[in-house]
Amino acid sequence: MLTHNLGFPRIGRNRELKWALEGFWQGRISKRQLLDTAREIRLENWRIQKDAGIDLVPVGDFSLYDHILDMTATLGAVPERFGFEGNEVDLDTYFRMARGAEDESGPAAMEMTKWFDTNYHYIVPEFWPGQVFRLSSSRLFRQVQEARQSGVQPKPVLPGPFTYIYLGKGMEPGFDRWEHLDEIVGAYCKVLAGLGKECQYIQMDEPILVLDLDRKMLERMINAYDRLAKAAGNAKIMIATYFGEIAHPATALKIPVAAFHLDLAQSPGQLGAVLENLPDHTALSMGVVNGRNIWRVDMDWAIDLVCQAGKVLGQDRIMVAPSCSLLHVPMDIAGENGLDPEIRTWLAFAREKCFEVAAIADAASGGQPDALIENRKILAARRACTRRMDPGVRDRLASISEQMFTRSSPFPERKKAQSALLDLPILPTTTIGSFPQTGEIRAIRKRYRQGEADREEYVQSMKEYIEFAVQQQEKAGLDVLVHGEPERNDMVEYFATKLDGFCLTENGWVQSYGSRCVKPPIIYGDVSRPHPMTILWSTFAQSLTKKPMKAMLTGPVTILRWSFVRDDQPQRDTCFQLALAIRDEVQDLEQAGMKIIQIDEPALREGLPLRQRDRQQYLDWAVAAFRLATSGVRDQTQIHTHMCYCEFNDIMDAIARMDADVISMEASRSRMTLLDTFRDFHYPNDIGPGIIDVHSPRVPAIDELTDLLRLALEGIPPEKLWVNPDCGLKTRTWPEVEAMLRNMVAAARQLRNELGSRKR
Ligand code: GLN
Ligand code: ZN
Repeated sequence: MLTHNLGFPRIGRNRELKWALEGFWQGRISKRQLLDTAREIRLENWRIQKDAGIDLVPVGDFSLYDHILDMTATLGAVPERFGFEGNEVDLDTYFRMARGAEDESGPAAMEMTKWFDTNYHYIVPEFWPGQVFRLSSSRLFRQVQEARQSGVQPKPVLPGPFTYIYLGKGMEPGFDRWEHLDEIVGAYCKVLAGLGKECQYIQMDEPILVLDLDRKMLERMINAYDRLAKAAGNAKIMIATYFGEIAHPATALKIPVAAFHLDLAQSPGQLGAVLENLPDHTALSMGVVNGRNIWRVDMDWAIDLVCQAGKVLGQDRIMVAPSCSLLHVPMDIAGENGLDPEIRTWLAFAREKCFEVAAIADAASGGQPDALIENRKILAARRACTRRMDPGVRDRLASISEQMFTRSSPFPERKKAQSALLDLPILPTTTIGSFPQTGEIRAIRKRYRQGEADREEYVQSMKEYIEFAVQQQEKAGLDVLVHGEPERNDMVEYFATKLDGFCLTENGWVQSYGSRCVKPPIIYGDVSRPHPMTILWSTFAQSLTKKPMKAMLTGPVTILRWSFVRDDQPQRDTCFQLALAIRDEVQDLEQAGMKIIQIDEPALREGLPLRQRDRQQYLDWAVAAFRLATSGVRDQTQIHTHMCYCEFNDIMDAIARMDADVISMEASRSRMTLLDTFRDFHYPNDIGPGIIDVHSPRVPAIDELTDLLRLALEGIPPEKLWVNPDCGLKTRTWPEVEAMLRNMVAAARQLRNELGSRKR
């Protein structure tokens, strides 16, 4: 029974890739040094997987920025604005596609968006009429050689052509990007012909097979894969699906490839239909170890599943693997010394998951691995552990009443009360929450965390930062201020450190995009809030100004989505527990005199199930959780929320049902579509579509901003429109922020003048 892996974390044990990338971008290290670091990470990754007992090790899963961007480079599908002239896509072009040009006049970065329902972001391929595709990167071939020389059996991994095209976008109205299918498949054939000579298996990721695809698309896949399989010669093609069950197994499994990979951790229910429909001789790769979460697998369950399939197919047609790429989990639990020792035993990170895969394959083929005995012991102990349960939280959850989900008055009445209290001009200006996270502020947080700075020094430093942030905002002339979030390393982690039921890793980094990583907290038990979490900062900030200060919280759905969640109760229950904790904080903030409270839910959309049939149920509880968190306040307390970097269009009515008084939404990367949405969908409450791209250092001119506001006014009435950037400004520098805010306020003022004496 072969074992394999779909992908391994790329960032390095101590985020070496991050440091090297950022060093290179800032000109501190050379290209050579960057590439050396990258190679060392690949070699270590392969060694780890091999030592753990993985037979076929993924190659090509590593990326300097993103694997979809790598495919774009491989196909030479470089947008014209980057001036690519054919041949090899060099590193500078590659990074400019990802990050935009250094100087303002240069080409803008390609769009970035979330990878299925994860918090990983990929670079969206661009398609236009007349585009040519030709092999323009030897990266994959070089890495296959490298892997071979390092003594592992390489299995090249690449996004399949259908997923690649599906995830991209046509750049001209009316242009159908599928017109390029034939040509793209042709380019893939060349890649496969090259790889086919070197490898036993080639993995083509086609996770779109778990979406609601129409049958026509499946027919096209059947035809195209016939070509691809031939091009691959002796190498076998494995189609990898993950994040759900294959939507139409009877048709999809007719795609003529040697093996299919299934995500059985998330969707074990699909096994029956797959076994029934799998053509003779086709192998089945069973993803039984969850690549999306950090809990140890239940080996007995996995072995049982593998044996069931083995009985039908014969053992030699079965492979064992993680459910998806391990990109979504931290690398190695060995890096964790501070974790609660009991909880630590319950966990498996990428490296440990490889060992689990090997042990499952071993046991399913009749072996008696020690790992199985140990696994049984640990799982039994976790089941018996009462620390997971808090009777108080359970009682409270059971006694939630209907009215806890609804504000006391409808929005129009609330708006009147709020307008009277806040006295804001039309087109009020505000920001999303964070301001530049300077080296100083990071240093003091770190020293405090490590016990080198005392509470007094820490609080003092935070207060100084807040004072500075307030001054800057007063100077810029903003209407609604924020404290700047200096105390937050991360918008989820901060709350995780304050809530019961969570634990935190020291080094459990997971790539979010490019060099950016997050360290998701782990929810292991019932969640509650022992003490207020943010009151000190918000009230201090309010004390410094007469302008309204907006208190900032992270919403229950986002905390849930950006944590590793417990697998022993439904996510809805965990989310409601979080909502109650946030509700307590919201009420305490109101009590403490805060008139505006923002509860960010940037992750609401990414939790949307991939299949239509599952969506309503998710949206119902996600919206309910937000309402539970925010409905305990008086009419005059203004609730804001914020969302960013996702496709909003298909969930607009759920967003409206959240019933926040004001929503700010990122709009820079897909400005037109978002504004179109507002022309069609009349959002009932107030809204601020972002007008400044926070990911770019470029400071938009006042004219540009007034143009955008005028565009927004075509779909949003002036009484409802707010003026704000796309997202938090923490990745910018203070001089950039100063200039951005100055121009933003000037643009708002100019339009106010044009609009005359209209009132909110
Ligand atoms: N309030 C947060 C900030 O400004 C929101 C971040 C986000 O949306 N991801 O940083
Ligand atoms: Zn945001």
